[in-house]
Amino acid sequence: MLRDSSHKLHILDHPLAAHKMSILRDAQTPSHRFRRTLNELSWLLAFPAFEMLRLAPVEITTPLETMTAQTLSDPAPCIVSILRAGNGLADGFSQICPEASLGHLGLYRDHDTLQPVSYYSSLPDRMDKRQVILVDPMLATGGSATMAIETLRNMGVDDIVFACLVAAPEGISALHGAHPEVPIFTAALDRELNDQAYILPGLGDAGDRIYGTG
Ligand code: URA
Repeated sequence: MLRDSSHKLHILDHPLAAHKMSILRDAQTPSHRFRRTLNELSWLLAFPAFEMLRLAPVEITTPLETMTAQTLSDPAPCIVSILRAGNGLADGFSQICPEASLGHLGLYRDHDTLQPVSYYSSLPDRMDKRQVILVDPMLATGGSATMAIETLRNMGVDDIVFACLVAAPEGISALHGAHPEVPIFTAALDRELNDQAYILPGLGDAGDRIYGTG
């Protein structure tokens, strides 16, 4: 893991992650392989992103003796997916942490203004007591992530990490400008945005690549 000096930007640094990112970036990769590779990569990204999870002591009995072990604290963390592309990351994250609750925030980017618009919200109870892992594959302008974090903050959530596949410098600045306390975990840091707010070199429209649309 590469970390910036503030320890708020974490970039996956692993040969398997680099290999899988190349598959995802390749325009020739078909949707079924894109989905499977995204799932594999999300497991690698989940490891560092889940490092902050709180634990609580629990008494258990092994076949040999009783011991104090560690378990996820209650209530379980919540993985919040920004629809629809977020589900590609949320699937892998919830496979490695099946105890986590799953929430969904529907945000789309207005094609003219490039601003996020909210159309759906479904979150579990006791959000103010949960740690949240917010996922969206592409951190481009940072607009959707910023809006999602504001929604979560308004519900009393104070412990949030953001995880993505590809981050643009513009998105990192915007997100850290609005929410400096939220750590960003990414599999890749790319060069810049184009005038349509797509990440370069990027991987295209993540939702279209996952679902074979577009
Ligand atoms: N959303 C995407 O799916 N891709 C980008 O490059 C930017 C935003």
